[in-house]
Amino acid sequence: MTEENDTIFGKIIRGEVPANKVYEDDDVLAFEDINAAAPTHILVIPKKHIVNLFDAEEEDAELLGKLMLTAKNVAIDQGLEEDGFRLVVNNGAGVGQSVFHIHVHVLGGRNFSWPPG
Ligand code: AMP
Repeated sequence: MTEENDTIFGKIIRGEVPANKVYEDDDVLAFEDINAAAPTHILVIPKKHIVNLFDAEEEDAELLGKLMLTAKNVAIDQGLEEDGFRLVVNNGAGVGQSVFHIHVHVLGGRNFSWPPG
């Protein structure tokens, strides 16, 4: 991507920082979260630098849909089809976003409470 994407995920996309990748194609990348919050914790990101949903445009609709379908496929690959999985997208520092490149957390393998904390 461009020099604007100076986030850790930009560096992972460019291969400057290693990651345990579980899926990659021209548009999206999925890799293990370095600080897993559940037995399965995968991050799905677009290769295009979108900061978060506030930064997403109509033209990103197909790419955002692809993130969701990739999350589903990753969850199935991780064996979560029977028990299910949770997706989390933190949008803004105020709700816990710490990396400013949009990402979908795919979480599974344990019980989850509702409402989320
Ligand atoms: P968020 O707080 O929603 O922005 O989530 C950012 C996530 O990125 C956290 O769960 C971190 O553990 C994860 N993370 C940060 N750096 C790395 C890295 N180098 N490789 C994999 N995951 C990372």
